[in-house]
Amino acid sequence: MIILVINSGSSSLKYQVRDGDDVLAEGLVERIGEAEVPDHAAALDRVDGEVSAALGDRGIDAVGHRVVHGGERFSEPVLIDNEITRAIERLNPLAPLHNPAAVTGIRAITDKWPDMPQVAVFDTAFHRTLPEHAWRYAVPDELYRKFGIRRYGFHGTSHAFVARGAAELLGADTFTGVIAHLGNGASVTAVRDGESVDTSMGFTPLEGLVMGTRSGDIDPSILLFLLREGYTEQDLDTLLNRNSGLKGLAGTNDMRSVTEAADAGDHRAQRAIDVASYRLAKYVGGYHVAVGGAQALVFTAGIGENAAAFRTAVVGKLGALGLELDEARNGERSREARIISTEASAFPVLVVPTDEEAAIAEATAAVVGASQPAA
Ligand code: ADP
Repeated sequence: MIILVINSGSSSLKYQVRDGDDVLAEGLVERIGEAEVPDHAAALDRVDGEVSAALGDRGIDAVGHRVVHGGERFSEPVLIDNEITRAIERLNPLAPLHNPAAVTGIRAITDKWPDMPQVAVFDTAFHRTLPEHAWRYAVPDELYRKFGIRRYGFHGTSHAFVARGAAELLGADTFTGVIAHLGNGASVTAVRDGESVDTSMGFTPLEGLVMGTRSGDIDPSILLFLLREGYTEQDLDTLLNRNSGLKGLAGTNDMRSVTEAADAGDHRAQRAIDVASYRLAKYVGGYHVAVGGAQALVFTAGIGENAAAFRTAVVGKLGALGLELDEARNGERSREARIISTEASAFPVLVVPTDEEAAIAEATAAVVGASQPAA
């Protein structure tokens, strides 16, 4: 089945065309809304041109959409119809930047190819198994009932994909352990018997780890303090989402630059690595408890897969759990899932590359396959 995977942003559209593990085409249309690409329909025409050139006389069988927020309703990928599209739209207040873009992408496909099966794959869905003690914030119930304020968690498609990959590598039926997805956004998830039981991102993707430009955990009173000092809502949003994290600490959000600067003796860069690795190590300790004893710690995404020095910094703080990296294995560059700890380590430390497009394509093919009567 040939699947077009779409990740719609407000001004960009990222796509990949896959047939199983084969990537047939991929690309990115940017600056939607400007003269050359006035809207998502125009972006889709461009994608159609590029995809048709790559596919020749073969055609797309289905479209899979990455949707950031599935709220409390969506715990699995679903076949999209008008009602589902409206349900995603009703979640716009919870993801004001992302969900409207996804809805725009879905409607552009519906207009262009009315009979095309479309599937929504939600970033939050994997975390629908969180127990209430993990998703509840300690605030009055009214905030949950009135506004849906609770922990949702994100990066679920990646965490689920990596949990399956880790189980496979370990020869286990299901995965129990801790997964650190460390990209520009970063989150860590506690997985027990293949189910998410806690995760560091919360009501929004701002909570938890130190990220490229996001602060992660912070005392909420700091916001009240800054409001009293004259900061506006927009100032706080920009401060915490765009100017904090590695960028706030070290001046750049790119872990490669941070590592190089630290190696060259830059104290701010070293401090950024110390703060970020300490924060993650604390979460790993907590989630080791949450899963009832991890069977593995897994690193994934850009930093998790490539930044050996950062992995060393994290695992170096986990001596109390008995973890020990094999520095030769840790330093090897590879795109394969692999073990990077010593035999003596209390449980293995793994690198398992993530592939969200593959996961979305796989889910899309499964949903569409199940919805079509056998021939
Ligand atoms: P996104 O969340 O945008 O998908 P990625 O998963 O691609 O992000 O991760 C981006 C991060 O990975 C950046 O901080 C980048 O510097 C880091 N990264 C990629 N390759 C390396 C490397 N070889 N060494 C250190 N960091 C790396």
